[in-house]
Amino acid sequence: MSDQHKPGTFYLTTPIYYVNARPHIGHAYTTLAADTIARRQRLLRGNDNVYFLTGTDEHGQKVQRSAAAAGITPQQFTDEVSATFRALWDRMGITYNDYIRTTEKRHAKGVQALFNRLYEGGHIYLDSYTGSYCVSDEAFVDLPPGTPCPDCGRPLETVTEENFYFRLSGFQLQLIDLIESGRFAVEPEARRNEVLSFLRGNVAAAPPEALELSAAGTAYIPGALKDLSISRSSFDWGIPVPEPAASESKQKHVIYVWLDALANYMTALGFGQDDCETYDKFWPADLHLVGKEIIRFHCIYWPAFLLAAGLPLPKMVQAHGWLLFEESKMSKSRGNIVRAETILDAFGSLKPEATTEEQDLFGTDVLRYFLMREISFGQDGSFTWPTATAIWSAALWR
Ligand SMILES: [Zn+2]
Repeated sequence: MSDQHKPGTFYLTTPIYYVNARPHIGHAYTTLAADTIARRQRLLRGNDNVYFLTGTDEHGQKVQRSAAAAGITPQQFTDEVSATFRALWDRMGITYNDYIRTTEKRHAKGVQALFNRLYEGGHIYLDSYTGSYCVSDEAFVDLPPGTPCPDCGRPLETVTEENFYFRLSGFQLQLIDLIESGRFAVEPEARRNEVLSFLRGNVAAAPPEALELSAAGTAYIPGALKDLSISRSSFDWGIPVPEPAASESKQKHVIYVWLDALANYMTALGFGQDDCETYDKFWPADLHLVGKEIIRFHCIYWPAFLLAAGLPLPKMVQAHGWLLFEESKMSKSRGNIVRAETILDAFGSLKPEATTEEQDLFGTDVLRYFLMREISFGQDGSFTWPTATAIWSAALWR
């Protein structure tokens, strides 16, 4: 496998969407932004030199619980939800080159290859830990059990696990230097600052003798970045920790869902598999498009895994803001979740003479134009029917 992809190529990705919920307009926003960039890059570089990946993230305790609640197997559950995402993208004419599912064999093979590479390099060790865990976010949180999770507000549970750990702490300064120098670009600036302040630790509260300086001369607290648990043994819906690491523990472990999920950007291209021609051509990624709530995973964990594995880093992670509905956050409890399907139906039906496919593509273009024009990329934006309707009327008179 080569270290630098062919000049002139462009590889971009959406996050793989978590199958715990049906697609809503927020997913459509990310996907339409990526599709718009992919179309432009194809005009600039030719179709063969652009690769656009999307897909679904299908493992983890939340999915296992949702499937059990629905009375079906996790595989049936993920098959159904993944298919609704793919059907929506097809209906909208999204020009993805590949659609990866983390329950595919090719993905499991690549993830285990990455795990082994980290293990063989001495970046993984076994240890036990008791802490507060958010099942919804699949993350340990440094707060007492029973208190609400700072990310999602659900109560934290106490979990004790023997886990495999990744030596994330060893990459603190290297990550700070890569991000500060722009060699690993994080956009927009507000998100870059958020990532950097997490990496630096609580500098303002620390005594001066606890601080050191990065290459760019900014202060950070050595040791503020902790090692990361990268396996779970309390449930089994995931990719098994492979041998030889597996034999070290008496318990059966699956690989942490974020290590599993992030690896999709390489496994889809053939990493760790027999045919890695696409990987050699397109890795490293030029652009990972993400929502701002998953920036830490993409800008700290992901580059650290790659550095540890001796693999090249993506060039840029670009975070977009949240899509609101008429200025308020969409949520199940508010009952104001907007579906892209609703918008396609509404605008498509205004061209009664057209075929269903033409109606869908017209509705998609109204939505695409709205999202790309009305929202400053990187900031939160709001979908409103009056503005969308104004765009539709303008389109009809052209
Ligand atoms: Zn949470």
